[in-house]
Amino acid sequence: MAIFKHTRSTDGKRREVVRLGHPVLRQKALEVPEERFGTRFLRDLGRDLTRTMYEDNGMGLAAPQIAVALRAFVYFVPGDGDEDEVPPQVVVNPRLTLEGEADALGWEGCLSLPGLRGIVPRHPRLVCEGLDVDGAPLRIEAEGLHARVIQHEVDHLDGIVFVDRMQDLSTLMYEEEWDRFADHKHLPVET
Ligand SMILES: [Zn+2]
Repeated sequence: MAIFKHTRSTDGKRREVVRLGHPVLRQKALEVPEERFGTRFLRDLGRDLTRTMYEDNGMGLAAPQIAVALRAFVYFVPGDGDEDEVPPQVVVNPRLTLEGEADALGWEGCLSLPGLRGIVPRHPRLVCEGLDVDGAPLRIEAEGLHARVIQHEVDHLDGIVFVDRMQDLSTLMYEEEWDRFADHKHLPVET
């Protein structure tokens, strides 16, 4: 089920999204070395991540999900109700400063675990520092859904998927059942 449709186009290539079981999803991804910034390689990686996120109607996508074991991801937050829209942003070599307890509950899904949803506890706020594909520094203050998406993506860089973070596996369900039976207060984050 697509949660929403992206309308903006992008010039990257759509890449295959690997699924749970592919070993790259369980590796710790490597820092992108300094000499890669501003290169065609890293710009293409950012564009391909963005294009693939659009095509698969995700809210984010990490490089390991397209079988590239580097610390880079793209995300965006759709403007919706309480949430301000955050335009697509590629973040490389992120470092998180987590704020508050990891007790904010929300639904998540993952393009690498297609069809599944579950309730995941996350920190309510964070600061994410990193670089863009050209090496310019980024400092992102995030809360709510925005903070959730970033925590989900950075977990992918450490070989962690959302089910690892679930405290109550009884909330794990398939999308169709989620549509029928779940409490829909919160938009699921599917990244
Ligand atoms: Zn994911």
